[in-house]
Amino acid sequence: MPPPDLTTLRESALLASYAMHSADSLGRRHPEPLHPYRGPYQRDRDRILHCAAFRRLSHKTQVFTGEMGDYHRTRLTHTLEVASIARTIARALRINEDLVEALAFAHDLGHPPFGHSGEDTLNDCLQNHGGFNHNAQALRVCELLESSYRPHPGLNLSHEVLEGQAYRARKHLKNRASRDPLTPPPPPACPLLEVQVVDAADSIAYNAHDADDSLELGLLTVEQLLEVPFWRDARDRVVQRHPSLSHRQVLRAVVHELIDCQVTDLVANASHLLSDHRIRTVGDVHQAPPLVTSSPELSDKKSVLEHFLLQNVYRHPTLLAKRRPAQHRLMELFDRFLKEPSLLPVKFQQLAETEGLPRTVADYLAGMTDRFAFDEHRRLSQA
Ligand code: MG
Repeated sequence: MPPPDLTTLRESALLASYAMHSADSLGRRHPEPLHPYRGPYQRDRDRILHCAAFRRLSHKTQVFTGEMGDYHRTRLTHTLEVASIARTIARALRINEDLVEALAFAHDLGHPPFGHSGEDTLNDCLQNHGGFNHNAQALRVCELLESSYRPHPGLNLSHEVLEGQAYRARKHLKNRASRDPLTPPPPPACPLLEVQVVDAADSIAYNAHDADDSLELGLLTVEQLLEVPFWRDARDRVVQRHPSLSHRQVLRAVVHELIDCQVTDLVANASHLLSDHRIRTVGDVHQAPPLVTSSPELSDKKSVLEHFLLQNVYRHPTLLAKRRPAQHRLMELFDRFLKEPSLLPVKFQQLAETEGLPRTVADYLAGMTDRFAFDEHRRLSQA
C-alpha cells in the first residue's frame, strides 16, 4: 500500500470521523492522478474559482440590480459571504472546509441574469422542455458548459461536489412536487454535513445582507426593522455592549451580530444533534434527519424576519418595477435566438445539436451578466 498523501494525513489529524474525508471520495468521472500537495476538494474549489461562470457572478443581480448603486451585494459577493460563513461553521464542526468551500463557490453558478426574475422567465420559456432552475443549471455549468484544456467537457469535479449540488436541485424538485402531485418525490437521504452547512450559510448570509442592503438603498427604514423581534434583539445586545456607537456604526454592528448569533446557534444545535444521534460516520449522517439546523427558538425568529423581507423587500414596488422590463428583454432574446440560431456563438450552435435548441438558448442566456443581456438585447433589436 502506498504511504498516505499530505491531504489524507492532514484531514485525519484535523477532521471528525463524520466529516467527508477526501481519501473516501468516489473520485472524478475522468480519473486524474493525485496532486502532490493539493487535495481533491481544494482543486475543485480552485477550478470553480478560476472558471468564467464564477467571474461573471460579479455582474449578476443578487436582489438589487447594478444601476441601483455600488453598496449592495452582487451574486459574487453573496457567494463569498456564504463561503466565509460556511467555512467558519465547518471549522467549528471539524468537517471538510475544502469541500464546503467548493460547494459554496458552486452553489449559485447557475443563476441567470436579473436574479430570480430571470430564473422565472427562463422557466416559463422552457415550460415544455423540462423547465429551468438555477440549482440544476449550476450542475450543467460544472459538467457541460465550462471547459478546460482537458479533452472532456466540464470541470471534472469530484463526485461529492456534484452530488451536493444535485441534492440542491432535487430539493427544488421536491418543493415543486409538494405542489404538483404528478412529479414524483426524490428519495429521502440526508446529504453530507458539508452540503447541509452550505445550505444553512446561504440563508444566514442573505437574511443579514438583504436587510442591510435594503436599509442602505432606502427601501426599508430602521423603524420598520425594529418591529422584527430578531433585528430588535440584536440591536439591543449591540447597544448594551457598545453604548457609544453612532447610528451608522450600530447598523453595521447589528448586521454582524445577526450573522454571529445565527452561526453560534447553528454550531451549538448541530453539535447537540450529532451527539444525540450518536453520529460517527458519513453513513450515519445519511441515515439521520437534517443535523445542521438552527434551534427551534431561533428558527422561529428567522422565519419572521424572512417573511418580513419577502413582504417588504422582495415585493417592493421599486424592485417589481425593475423586474418586468428585464423579464421582457430576456423573453425577447430567447424568442430571437430560437428563431435565428445562427445568431448564437458557434460553440452554442454546436451544443444545440446534442442538447436541443431551447435548452441551449437557455444555457447561453443563463450565462450572461445583467449588462451583457441588456447590451445583447439592444444590439439585436437594432440588427
Ligand atoms: Mg445563494
